[in-house]
Amino acid sequence: MEVFDTPEAMREWSDGRHRLGTTIAFVPTMGALHDGHRALVDEARRHGTDVVVSIFVNRLQFNEPSDFDNYPKPFGDDVEACRRAGVAAVYAPRPETMYPPGFQTYVEPGRLAERFEGEHRPGHFRGVTTVVCKLFTAVRPDVAVFGQKDAQQLAIIARMSIDLDLGVRIVAMPTVREHDGVAMSSRNRRLSATERRAAACIWQGLESASALASAGESSATAIADAVRRRVEAEPAARIEYVAVVDPHSFEPIDHIGRVDGQSAALVVVAAWLGEVRLIDNIVITT
Ligand code: AMP
Repeated sequence: MEVFDTPEAMREWSDGRHRLGTTIAFVPTMGALHDGHRALVDEARRHGTDVVVSIFVNRLQFNEPSDFDNYPKPFGDDVEACRRAGVAAVYAPRPETMYPPGFQTYVEPGRLAERFEGEHRPGHFRGVTTVVCKLFTAVRPDVAVFGQKDAQQLAIIARMSIDLDLGVRIVAMPTVREHDGVAMSSRNRRLSATERRAAACIWQGLESASALASAGESSATAIADAVRRRVEAEPAARIEYVAVVDPHSFEPIDHIGRVDGQSAALVVVAAWLGEVRLIDNIVITT
């Protein structure tokens, strides 16, 4: 397995692989790899001959400096995990390589980035689109795999790839969960034992919302309230937002209706467990 830390070295390798006729499937990560990332790598293998994983904790997308400082960075373990997973190349640029002195050019996302994560984490999505654009430029993938756990990010990246003619096909991977339904996340490592147990309230709330919709409830307020009630019943949890949105535009909707057999709505939620902020979502198919 190759490990590259400059865009030039990464690009030279990718160009060489392309000349041999391979397709490159790319999984961008911030490291602290878990089974969710592993599932993305497995999915990537279905779409490309070579899988490239990037490991870069992108300061630009952290609106809270303490969140960046506390973000786990087990780089050696991550490289080993990639090797075991059969990854062809790891791209792990140093911060000063990614953002050299004088850096001043950003990718500005549009309407999709205004609400929810965009509203509660100012600048977050601009950091994401900027770094993903730079990663795409270095890795030159044919396909890139992103997790449905970060549903708004996924929608924004898919839009960016179209809008900027990046030519990268974006593939979505369903959320990988722990036995109690908690979405796997690098941030789960920072939860105390009590907070970790309490975190299950998020998925339980989402499941009760989904059950309510399946039973015929179409009011978005009633469906969002089901999540709110379950999370608020948990003393260790504090809800930041919950909303029922159109899965493509991320605009809030009042009523759920089936459109051309497509999934009708997405319930998105962010909640705090102590000092740790977690997000999750569920697709409502009525
Ligand atoms: P991160 O390292 O948290 O920036 O995540 C890197 C990629 O892994 C993103 O596309 C995430 O959406 C995806 N991801 C993170 N957690 C999960 C999970 N539990 N299931 C599926 N994908 C995930």
